[in-house]
Formats: sequence, structure tokens, C-alpha cells
Amino acid sequence: MHDPDCLFCKIVQGRIPSRKVHEDEEFFAFHDIRPAAPIHFLVVPKAHVASMAQVSDAHAPMLGRMMALAPRLAMQEGCNPYPEGGFRLMVNTGAEGGQEVHHLHLHVLGGPRPWARG
Ligand code: AMP
Ligand code: ZN
Repeated sequence: MHDPDCLFCKIVQGRIPSRKVHEDEEFFAFHDIRPAAPIHFLVVPKAHVASMAQVSDAHAPMLGRMMALAPRLAMQEGCNPYPEGGFRLMVNTGAEGGQEVHHLHLHVLGGPRPWARG
């Protein structure tokens, strides 16, 4: 379930500190250490999956629950209501996709513009 060398597995297990946004039996969410927007946090499955390139049909229910969780956490963290507000969901995958940490994570970005990046 956990990869001992994985940064986000260590965060999930509390072995590396993070600013927690949410935790349940399946997911852990925490603030990005280098925010690109006024609100920027990451949602990760607790079970290690390296990236979207490794997902199969078996992961579809988990991915659906992760996508359904994100809007609820976005509002909880202060994103403004749709349609004037909103948020951005992003999953970088592989080197050419801009992925730096190889544990599947959903970026949730929001808040008033301009943003630092993007
Ligand atoms: P990605 O480029 O999609 O793999 O995103 C990795 C994200 O993890 C980046 O936005 C980093 O700022 C963030 N990050 C790296 N280390 C930590 C950490 N210890 N705590 C919180 N966020 C982190
Ligand atoms: Zn991991």
C-alpha cells in the first residue's frame, strides 16, 4: 500500500509533516508547499499509485470519489462559488506532463487572480 521511498506516502503516514486539509480512510489532502494560487492543495489516495499512467478500470471508483471530493474541499478551503469563482483541477503525469512527485495527486487551485503560475 505504501512505498517506503515515496514522499507523499511519508506525508500520508505522518512521517513528514504537512498542513492537513482533509483525511478519511481513502484520501489525504494537504496544502502545497509551493502554492501557485491563493488556494492550492493536493488530494492523494492513501494507497500508493505512481501516476495516471498506471491506473486501470479497477481504479475508476477511487478516481471518481477523488474528483467528487475535490469540489467539497475547494469550498471548505475558501474557493469562491461557481461561476464567478471556481477552481482548477490538475493531474500532472510523467516528465513531459510536469510530474515531479510520483504518487498520484490531484492539484486543486483557486482564489482571486492573478495567480503566481498559470
Ligand atoms: P507535480 O509537479 O504535479 O508532481 O506536483 C508536486 C507538487 O508537490 C508541487 O506543487 C510541490 O510544490 C508539492 N510538494 C513537494 N513537496 C511537498 C511537501 N513536502 N509538502 C507539500 N507539497 C509538496
Ligand atoms: Zn506513494
